[in-house]
Amino acid sequence: MPEQEPISLDERLIGNIREELEAQTVGRGLGLDDAILEQLAWAIAVNLRYAFDVTWAPKWAREVHSWMEADEDMPTGENHFVECLRCGWLTGQNPSKAQAQAEYLGHVASHHPSSEGCSSG
Ligand SMILES: [Zn+2]
Repeated sequence: MPEQEPISLDERLIGNIREELEAQTVGRGLGLDDAILEQLAWAIAVNLRYAFDVTWAPKWAREVHSWMEADEDMPTGENHFVECLRCGWLTGQNPSKAQAQAEYLGHVASHHPSSEGCSSG
């Protein structure tokens, strides 16, 4: 499986802001549609990056070294990948969670030999 490009900082930032906007929209019944949420997230991210040095530091991931996702946009059977939260490396798209996890553990062994691969969620 070919590795994927790491997720860019802008993509992470916009995605993170968008998730919060979605949660607030639902929680407060704001009724903002997807296009508005996307534009707001993009505008807030650009404004933040204009005034602040933003770095990605997933504090929620101190204990967990990786996360795994089934990518709904990919065809069934090749849509599992794992991201190494220590360095941002992504596995390729794998046909099963077990294969994605095996690829990730290979990465940990070669790139982070002093650490253990933790389970992912
Ligand atoms: Zn790594």
